[in-house]
Amino acid sequence: MIRSKRVRGSTYVLTTKPTVGLFLTTEAEGVLIDSGGGDATAGEILELLTREGITLRGIVNTHSHADHCGGNAALQAATGCAIVASPIAAAWMEYPLLLAMTLSGGGHPPAALQGRQLLPRPSRASAVVSGDFDLAGYHFSVLPTPGHLPGHLAIGTEDEVLFCGDAAFGESTLRRHRLMLMSEPERFVESLDALASAPAAALVLGHGGVLSSSAVHPLLEQNRQAVLAASALIARCATHPIDLEELTALVLKELQVRCGIGQYALFRATISGHLRWLEEQGIIAFSMVGTRLVVGPPMRAAPAAAASARTSVPQPPS
Ligand SMILES: [Zn+2]
Repeated sequence: MIRSKRVRGSTYVLTTKPTVGLFLTTEAEGVLIDSGGGDATAGEILELLTREGITLRGIVNTHSHADHCGGNAALQAATGCAIVASPIAAAWMEYPLLLAMTLSGGGHPPAALQGRQLLPRPSRASAVVSGDFDLAGYHFSVLPTPGHLPGHLAIGTEDEVLFCGDAAFGESTLRRHRLMLMSEPERFVESLDALASAPAAALVLGHGGVLSSSAVHPLLEQNRQAVLAASALIARCATHPIDLEELTALVLKELQVRCGIGQYALFRATISGHLRWLEEQGIIAFSMVGTRLVVGPPMRAAPAAAASARTSVPQPPS
């Protein structure tokens, strides 16, 4: 049975995994931050709200991963509550197949990528936001924190409690996974900076509990180091031309990770994101070798070859 724990003022966290937030707008009404991983969690949340005599007025989603918005459909059907999300999250929540397709290279995903863990039931946002907003008469602050996923938002309540979703991970999650799921590592690092300068009395992580303000900076630094270490590992594995599947296998071997198809697809997507960042820094380059798309050190033309290439340009007849 899930329970609620007060963080500060009228802001609570529910003992769900990942953490769901609850802001009580009055003694009898509340707004959730995220909705849990599916119908079962949604049922438990509804049970808790009914037990406490709380009417659900809205859900605010940090992002559109299934473990954070999977309860939307059931909760909205049961209560008619509002749903607030970023424009990108709203699109993916309404058409979850689009997000699942990003894990299968753009094609229709195989059955293994269509489980509820990756493909939540569709839900429709009643409002899309990119900045602060009011809901049920209360003010919520919005800090754009892309990187983990486009359109990711951190949501602040009037009690200065900031729910950062997966824009940063807790210490044990960092230790356990080492290669944290993200689509744009450089944006993830920028979002850590944004979180570091956001005024918050407490920071709630999707995976990792509640941090007091004094514990926030050391954890954000640990997150930054984890991203840089992952990027360095991927660069070390791509010092010779290698394709994405081989590279993913090599990185997972280095990390001693064994996983199923869904987890593999998430790791592969994360490695793709790192490769784009490494390409931008000039550390690796993409090229075709025969019929294979590979990554590896950028080719640098030898000076003599470059000079001969220059002189080989056909000259107009004189
Ligand atoms: Zn996520």
